[in-house]
Amino acid sequence: RGISKYSTAAAVEDPIIPAVNVNYTQLLINGQFVDAASGKTFPTLDPRTGDVIANVSEGDAEDINRAVAAARKAFDEGPWPRMPAYERQRILLRFADLIEKHNDELAALETWDNGKPYEQAATIEVPMVARLMRYYAGWADKIHGLTAPADGPYHVQTLHEPIGVAGQIIPWNFPLLMFAWKIGPALACGNTVVMKTAEQTPLSALFASNLLHEAGLPAGVLNVVSGFGPTAGAALASHMEVDKLAFTGSTSTGKVVLGLAARSNLKPVTLELGGKSPFIVCEDADVDTAVELAHFALFFNQGQCCCAGSRTFVHERVYDEFVEKAKARALKRSVGDPFKGGIEQGPQIDTEQFEKILGYIRSGVESGATLETGGERLGDKGFYIKPTVFSNVKDDMLIAKDEIFGPVQSILKFKDLEDVVRRANSTPYGLAAGVFTENIDTANTLTRALRAGTVWVNCFDIFDAAIPFGGYKMSGQGREKGIYSLSNYLQVKAVVTPLKNPAWL
Ligand code: NAD
Repeated sequence: RGISKYSTAAAVEDPIIPAVNVNYTQLLINGQFVDAASGKTFPTLDPRTGDVIANVSEGDAEDINRAVAAARKAFDEGPWPRMPAYERQRILLRFADLIEKHNDELAALETWDNGKPYEQAATIEVPMVARLMRYYAGWADKIHGLTAPADGPYHVQTLHEPIGVAGQIIPWNFPLLMFAWKIGPALACGNTVVMKTAEQTPLSALFASNLLHEAGLPAGVLNVVSGFGPTAGAALASHMEVDKLAFTGSTSTGKVVLGLAARSNLKPVTLELGGKSPFIVCEDADVDTAVELAHFALFFNQGQCCCAGSRTFVHERVYDEFVEKAKARALKRSVGDPFKGGIEQGPQIDTEQFEKILGYIRSGVESGATLETGGERLGDKGFYIKPTVFSNVKDDMLIAKDEIFGPVQSILKFKDLEDVVRRANSTPYGLAAGVFTENIDTANTLTRALRAGTVWVNCFDIFDAAIPFGGYKMSGQGREKGIYSLSNYLQVKAVVTPLKNPAWL
């Protein structure tokens, strides 16, 4: 209807009504959907229009207390940490099957609440959730301790025990995927969970949690509280009965929750925070392929990725050609109703992010960067922004320093490897980096020199279940996914027993 596959639309048309009912809007506490203790609700909005999709129960400190009490009881007295691990595994596997069965409904809720392209949600993100659950189900019955040698006649063994009640706080950019990254390892290891979802996107986690109970999860093992950060989130981070906190969100909020955890009961904290990741195009690169990958690295998910390749460093020899082609590619990006086929970019999440991104675009222009294309809103309703490309960006400009979290590509010029390594690392962040080269020596030099938790070489945004993800420096603490995430949800107990007349030590 009007928007051709590869042209930025001049106007945004009437939104498609998704074929999915919003059945779950209450808090999930102790296996029941219940109203908030205060009776309050808040609206969750359709980013295509700003219209209300549903009113959702608004949890605050009292609801967090109720949820933590349920999780505490389920951990201290319930079957979840006590059942044979293969039974936990079977429940998680059944959950994965149900995710697949309800793939399209989950994808529709995700797109409606978040604005991301439906095709992306339905073919990448929801399938990844099922894949992740199977991966962690696989770990459930492979978690065990070791024996260790002692200097005297002692038998030493280690037990790998669940930590207890895990508090988990997630952002809005990948609502269901962040939910899965967090609950997968926590549940596989036998913990119970209180999850605080992002206030912008509460719907898909509630739907999925219902499926997890249908799969056989005992009541109280997973509790989901929708609500706001300073109320529900802060109450969870500072709760004395929460044994571990996992947070994904901005670096500034990460500092707040770390402080709350420290000042309450010193619960261990893992943090997945912001980034300003370099994407480095070397002089030997095939420019057309590099342009396409750099475009994807920045614009994927409306630019709302913590690891977005938001500083595109291009070697001076290919710079001009790259800028021309990057501009042409951005002009071809298909923007529009995310429920339509062929749409690459939907609206930004909300008016706050929309205004913040437009503010950064103004700052780019004012600081002297060249606006190649885009730079303004698309249409007159919803939160659509035209794909934007800046060239001649300098390291000290705000658009090269701050996390914009929007469809704004900043292209910088570099001279040689020494120059680009120094500048790429010259940021408080260290989440990810992209390297584009056909020279193995260049790739090896850069992968070791870049201070980032992930370096993608000649690819970007590869997020398989077993690949660990997390940040250096102010991009976070700890790793999620893969084998590394298990240690976030286990503690090690050493058990030492004297050996009477041992045949050997
Ligand atoms: P945010 O920090 O504002 O919010 C994240 C979550 O924290 C939300 O659930 C929010 O309600 C909660 N929160 C806010 N204030 C709180 C407080 N005082 N106490 C407890 N909880 C509080 O971030 P956002 O704008 O929702 O998400 C975008 C940010 O998340 C970006 O900076 C992005 O880079 C980051 N992010 C990081 C990763 C990663 O894996 N490193 C993944 C996705 C997003």
